[in-house]
Amino acid sequence: MNAIEQYVAPTSLAQALDCLSRGEVTVLAGGTDLMPQSAGGKVKLRPTLMNIRRVPELTGIARDGDAIRIGALVTVTEMMRDALVREHLPVLVEAGDHFASDQIRNAATLGGNVNNASPAGDLLVPLLVLGAEVELAGKPNGAIATRQLPLAEFFVGPGRTRRQPHELLTAVRVPLPPRGQLARFYKFGTRPALDISAISIGLAAVADDGVLSNVRVAFGAVAPTPVRAPRTEAALEGRRLDASAIEAAAQAAFDEVRPIDDVRASAWYRRELIRNMTRRMLDDVAQA
Ligand SMILES: Cc1cc2nc3c(=O)[nH]c(=O)nc-3n(C[C@H](O)[C@H](O)[C@H](O)COP(=O)(O)OP(=O)(O)OC[C@H]3O[C@@H](n4cnc5c(N)ncnc54)[C@H](O)[C@@H]3O)c2cc1C
Repeated sequence: MNAIEQYVAPTSLAQALDCLSRGEVTVLAGGTDLMPQSAGGKVKLRPTLMNIRRVPELTGIARDGDAIRIGALVTVTEMMRDALVREHLPVLVEAGDHFASDQIRNAATLGGNVNNASPAGDLLVPLLVLGAEVELAGKPNGAIATRQLPLAEFFVGPGRTRRQPHELLTAVRVPLPPRGQLARFYKFGTRPALDISAISIGLAAVADDGVLSNVRVAFGAVAPTPVRAPRTEAALEGRRLDASAIEAAAQAAFDEVRPIDDVRASAWYRRELIRNMTRRMLDDVAQA
């Protein structure tokens, strides 16, 4: 049974961080993960429930030097409609297209997806291949302190991150892609719509005269966290996307993932999907 003693809705980052510093707080953003998890007994709410939706510092998408800063409260719908994202980071729009339903996209936030730290979180795989960083803020000694961490280092296990209890995730920073970068996101679930990924694949690479460099590949739902795939990346780095490179990458992907059996798919099926979907994704890129 959850015993919420207090509901707070701060209107500034400083207020929110003060509240967090006092301890025993559950952070609520869109609630699309938190509410079902709490109702299902998977998560026990702490005595203070803090709704962060009125904190202005967590909103908005803006150019920030050589990166695009996406506020933690930006919803999937807002992200998909944003001009900067559409121009520079279209793979996030592609991922949004595969994300739940319109109703959920209108409420689900980027910060919630990242903090929920599901191995199958759909925004995490494209953000990994784009080299994103998370921005965290805390107020441990009376003044706001911020830090940044590569997204790849943020996840510790299913539902577990390196965020400290006194910190809020304030934003995700995505470097502006280099000229010639292509990026793709593939998701496979048991239904074509409104489904959590059985597996997902992200790819980013610079294509110069057909030759790939700076290759990044990531997989979702095949490990306790979304993961980069160094052997698959190595199979593609410096290669032209011909049939033999595609086959080598698909086999490397099959060899390097170690998924588990669960309600959505068996480990065997997931490995086959990874091999086949990697091949299909690379075929599509080669023909584009
Ligand atoms: C029907 C349905 C379909 C779904 N389909 C998909 C799907 O296709 N793909 C997918 O990836 N997900 C899916 N989800 C999961 C969910 O919608 C997403 O993970 C969503 O992005 C969570 O965001 P939220 O704002 O609702 O987070 P919340 O539920 O409010 O919070 C999630 C977690 O993050 C913490 N948190 C939130 N914001 C912050 C912050 N700024 N700082 C620190 N901690 C924070 C909360 O305390 C909580 O632990 C689905 C959920 C439902 C109910």
